Amino acid sequence: MLSDWKPVIGLEIHAQLNTKSKIFCNDSTEFGKGDNQNISPVSLALPGALPVVNKMAIENSIKTGLALNCEIRRKSVFSRKNYFYPDLPKGYQISQFDEPICEGGYVDFFVGEEEVRVGITRAHMEEDAGKSTHHGDYSLINLNRAGIPLLEIVSEPDIKSALHAAEYARAVRQILKYLNVCDGNLEEGSLRCDCNVSVMKKDATEFGTRVEIKNINSFRFVEKAIDYEISRQIEVIESGGEIFQETRLFDSTKNKTYSMRKKEQAHDYRFFPDPDLLPVIISEKWIEDVKSTLPELPKDMAQRFQDEYKIPKYDAFVLTQEKELANYFEKVAKESNNPKMASNWVMVELQRELNEQKITIENSPVSAQRLANLIKLIDTKIISGKIAKKVFSIMLTDEKDPKMIVEEQGLVQISDTGTIEKMVDEVIAASPNQVEQYRGGKDKLFGYFVGQIMKASKGQANPEMINKLLKEKLKG
Ligand code: ADP
Ligand code: MG
Repeated sequence: MLSDWKPVIGLEIHAQLNTKSKIFCNDSTEFGKGDNQNISPVSLALPGALPVVNKMAIENSIKTGLALNCEIRRKSVFSRKNYFYPDLPKGYQISQFDEPICEGGYVDFFVGEEEVRVGITRAHMEEDAGKSTHHGDYSLINLNRAGIPLLEIVSEPDIKSALHAAEYARAVRQILKYLNVCDGNLEEGSLRCDCNVSVMKKDATEFGTRVEIKNINSFRFVEKAIDYEISRQIEVIESGGEIFQETRLFDSTKNKTYSMRKKEQAHDYRFFPDPDLLPVIISEKWIEDVKSTLPELPKDMAQRFQDEYKIPKYDAFVLTQEKELANYFEKVAKESNNPKMASNWVMVELQRELNEQKITIENSPVSAQRLANLIKLIDTKIISGKIAKKVFSIMLTDEKDPKMIVEEQGLVQISDTGTIEKMVDEVIAASPNQVEQYRGGKDKLFGYFVGQIMKASKGQANPEMINKLLKEKLKG
């Protein structure tokens, strides 16, 4: 029975650290360069080439560790992880093993309304490998990625569902992007997830055997791969089979995982401290300096938005998904002096437009200042909310200030009692049947009258005044 089981999930997230050069030499990290353009004797592992550690990679790791509530080790050590791959010319990967730079933290995030905490076991620095591509009877190796700095963030096996795993990965990405230590670009491989999954009986005390699904570069696939894997494992065990510790891959077209290789144990790698690299010693002062440069993190920002701008928790959560969006909202809120309306406009009208046109907030055709000006026009009743939508759609292709657009197009709201009264009278006179039904108790028809008057005024009549006058007149 499915309900007898519960999954145990832990994620390893490999984040590419934003640095200009590689972790152990000065080859460029620029993406999209021609094959083997970003290489040197160190990346090629030519005999005698020596690694020198990149200070920015360490600084970005400290930053991330602090944001993930980790302890920063004052002394951490680079080790050799020995294995053979054609795209790993040294025959070992430089990583950190028993003395990683960051240890013991946690990340808090929301899954719907539920606040969830996932523990961080450790985060360690390592170098990326190159890339092989296979072409019929030959293969090519591109070493541009060899030596790209990575921070591997390892979670505790705390995650209780596929959805939580995907949300956890999103939360980590969000923090990395706020810190500006990783661009979070999944398509370019700047962020990859390995998902460890096992299942256990609900009343069991020991974890089951875990399977690792490697190198997933989409959060949707994280969720799908884990869900598939949970069902597969339960099915295998319930039909009398056994789960082996292995590495699997996810096939997103078939929506299935399949076995890649039997999983090595840590001792298979023969880790030992790299004699070419000194231990990394981090002073108290360095940590303090980095701490003082930490930006406001999404969770704190969301809380501040609720306190300062009195917007609902959900809005604050959505608006802080991206730092640029949060900054944009904050500017609109301040300039318009109407944070609630600002959050609605940013979350609904603006986001819809940006999504449809596939543009980022930084390239929004409507600047925060112009959106704030539009909101001020609604607030001061110069235009109605409905007309504002029309003005907004003009603003998408017209750079003028909304006030100018309203004036030029004659969209100012009609708030003159005489004019509105005349429209109300006309509509009442033209709808004797509806008036009779309304007076006979069919209250719902009120909306019909409002609609007719709005139509007659091309949406420009002040809705509050329509309501007031219409109520009076319909009483008869
Ligand atoms: P490896 O180098 O073998 O991948 P790591 O220590 O880097 O090992 O990562 C192990 C990951 O597996 C961690 O995220 C951990 O939380 C998770 N994990 C450990 N045991 C289990 C288990 N029984 N079921 C699911 N996940 C597990
Ligand atoms: Mg690992």
